[in-house]
Amino acid sequence: MPASAPNSSVTLHYHRFSWWRAIVCACAALILTLNAAAQSGSTIRVRLADGFDFPVGKPDADGFYKARGYWPNGHLGEDWNGRGGGDTDLGVPIYATGRGVVIFSQNIGVGWGNCILVRHIFREADGKIAMVDSLYGHLHERKVKLHDLVEKGQIVGTMGGNSGMYPVHLHFEVRKNLHIGMNRSQFARDSSNYYSPTAFINVRRTLPSSMQKYDVPVNNFAPYGRAMADVGSDGTQNSGVAVPAFKGGSGAAKGETKQDDDFWSRLKAKMRSGQTTSDADEKR
Ligand SMILES: [Zn+2]
Repeated sequence: MPASAPNSSVTLHYHRFSWWRAIVCACAALILTLNAAAQSGSTIRVRLADGFDFPVGKPDADGFYKARGYWPNGHLGEDWNGRGGGDTDLGVPIYATGRGVVIFSQNIGVGWGNCILVRHIFREADGKIAMVDSLYGHLHERKVKLHDLVEKGQIVGTMGGNSGMYPVHLHFEVRKNLHIGMNRSQFARDSSNYYSPTAFINVRRTLPSSMQKYDVPVNNFAPYGRAMADVGSDGTQNSGVAVPAFKGGSGAAKGETKQDDDFWSRLKAKMRSGQTTSDADEKR
């Protein structure tokens, strides 16, 4: 039947078109599913870090000093400051301490400001695979976004003071516990959960790596929530340990003592002058 030929041709063409549509749709659905998996938890494939460097003045923190070191139940990270004094370090680059994946990049205001967390997987000297999170706080700008893969020495942001709340400096932490996120108040503030950043870096400057990728969990900590306990603390806490809250503004916060004011006056003067800390503090 001559009349049927055009019809079957049209039908065939329609079917081919449908197949392509189906394939395109299936691919799109797969991509969306994979994206959703990455968003909702699960893992991202990351190569082992091949070592860790300092997050300022890379790789050895040249031109910077620790205005405050790490101590358990007190300051849970290190405050890095430029030796130029004042806020001459505003906007200087902050580098990823090692290869990893960005697991948090937000401005959460209050005591933290712009904050970035990078998760690192690496092989310890004893051969075991381990993971840590590095935190970069009070940034002037964030230069990476959630789930970006970063290399050691890659710029993740620039140094700031949380929009004038603090003298410009970097608050830098290295966490053993991958569930802390921005909710430090819910976790023990000691070496069960945190490393001394300098001590951590010093013994891991060079580590074995390869092209192999490993599954690194993402989105496995609570959203920023019970953070009011951390507001303005900049690493300090109310544990009975005599470490005052860091206040950048004028006027004493409720309950602060004259001694606390002296502490912060000295620290701010030190940051303004670019004065170095004692050897003992540098080596904490
Ligand atoms: Zn700090």
